[in-house]
Amino acid sequence: MNAETLINFSYIVASILFIMGLKMLGRQTTARRGNMISSLGMLIAVVVTLFAREIVSFQWIVVGVGIGAVIGIACARLIKMTSIPEMVALLNGFGGLASLLVGWAEYGKFLAAGSTSSTFTGTVIVLAVLIGGVTFTGSLYAFGKLSGKLSGKPVMFSGQQFVNGALVLGLIAAGVVYVIHGGAGDIGGNAFYACLAIAFILGITLVMPIGGGDMPVVISMLNSLSGLAACAAGFVITNNVLIVAGCLVGTSGVILTIIMCKAMNRSLANVLFSGFGSDATAAAGGDSEGQIKGELKPISAEDSFAVLEAARNVVVVPGYGMAVSQAQHVVRELAEMLENNGAEVRFAIHPVAGRMPGHMNVLLAEANVPYEQLVEMDSINPQMPMMDVAIVIGANDVVNPAAARDKSSPIYGMPIINAHEANTVICLKRGKGAGFSGIENQLFLLENTRMLYGDAKASLQGVVSEFKAMAED
Ligand code: NAP
Repeated sequence: MNAETLINFSYIVASILFIMGLKMLGRQTTARRGNMISSLGMLIAVVVTLFAREIVSFQWIVVGVGIGAVIGIACARLIKMTSIPEMVALLNGFGGLASLLVGWAEYGKFLAAGSTSSTFTGTVIVLAVLIGGVTFTGSLYAFGKLSGKLSGKPVMFSGQQFVNGALVLGLIAAGVVYVIHGGAGDIGGNAFYACLAIAFILGITLVMPIGGGDMPVVISMLNSLSGLAACAAGFVITNNVLIVAGCLVGTSGVILTIIMCKAMNRSLANVLFSGFGSDATAAAGGDSEGQIKGELKPISAEDSFAVLEAARNVVVVPGYGMAVSQAQHVVRELAEMLENNGAEVRFAIHPVAGRMPGHMNVLLAEANVPYEQLVEMDSINPQMPMMDVAIVIGANDVVNPAAARDKSSPIYGMPIINAHEANTVICLKRGKGAGFSGIENQLFLLENTRMLYGDAKASLQGVVSEFKAMAED
């Protein structure tokens, strides 16, 4: 078997491991193993690639791997779980930049050799550069929004879609000119740099009008684009495993984007072009049809205990606040106490609760909450009127009834967990803070809702102490 055959055979093994790993990531019980299997696939792909003839300098590769490993380990250790979305945004951006650089280097190679690229190579160079460029600046902008360094609100101006349309046309025109000239001469060079510049600008103008609760969709879309850019880069350097890995990232990103749009009952076009919450009156919760009037009614940990002690069906609705206060372990402790007290406890999981897909599942798995207790939104909602108590732990947008009742609300139409239908709702939060989308939540004003103010972990510890005191008596 010659080296080339061995390399391609190993690439097939790596690709199979990627696909197996991805499949296993779909279930909580196998996700950890799936991650390891995909990582093994990537290790094989990287090591085998080092045997490829085209490797020019191993010293630079070692330096790159060293620097990358240090930054990667530091990020994995230091970045808080709640900051993962902005880190994912950054990583998507770097993925796009890497593909762009591959395309750029290939253009440089033709230039240095004084030759021109074929129509196919020219096309994939342009695709790697334009998709990579859009992904890079779009992801950096999304990182700025998610990390709070830039305003998270949608930025809209008149004629915005016209500007974006013109940029797309410009990009296509520059790409076509580059391909026709095979990148040769001033015309080819100018077309290449025009592609680069327009792609950078388009990345920003595309993400600009998106904000609030729509940002997760943007992140998964940029993730998908980074995969497609890698796929194009794979064609540029004819590396089969890069093509496969890029396709897998691209398609899984598209699937996740569709799942998230469905979870919010929005079309992708609506997410990309409508400007979430840009209607100031709606965002401010203006007085409109379907709105609930009422006042916030606080409850103490002792009284919450009294309500919970009598409950037989309890549903816990976790949200971002549970992640912030790291309350998952106390939540599990409380759930065990409720079960020992004769109640049936379920955890209602909304697809976009928290700040990343599967955020709540990961936290609850970390606290060893049995998977069987986790129920998806569509399954729990019909049972909600039978629930004695719904404990809403740092969730806000995902339980906002305005989504179903208030036509003027920017989240109108988004499916929510119907916590408001439970007999009693106990909401744990620190104060009057709005959710991620910045809009008011009328669940807190309902007649059957009580507010248990404070850090979620401390509040739950208070309730757990009451249960412990009862057990000791
Ligand atoms: P949310 O709407 O962001 O609300 C979180 C609530 O937690 C806040 O109202 C806050 O109120 C409370 N909170 C914060 N820290 C707390 C603490 N230490 N103790 C107790 N409460 C605390 O959360 P959500 O209902 O989970 O909704 C998720 C939102 O994020 C959706 O809009 C979704 O679209 C968006 N998003 C999701 C993803 C994803 O992939 N899952 C990614 C990015 C964005 P106080 O300040 O008053 O405490």
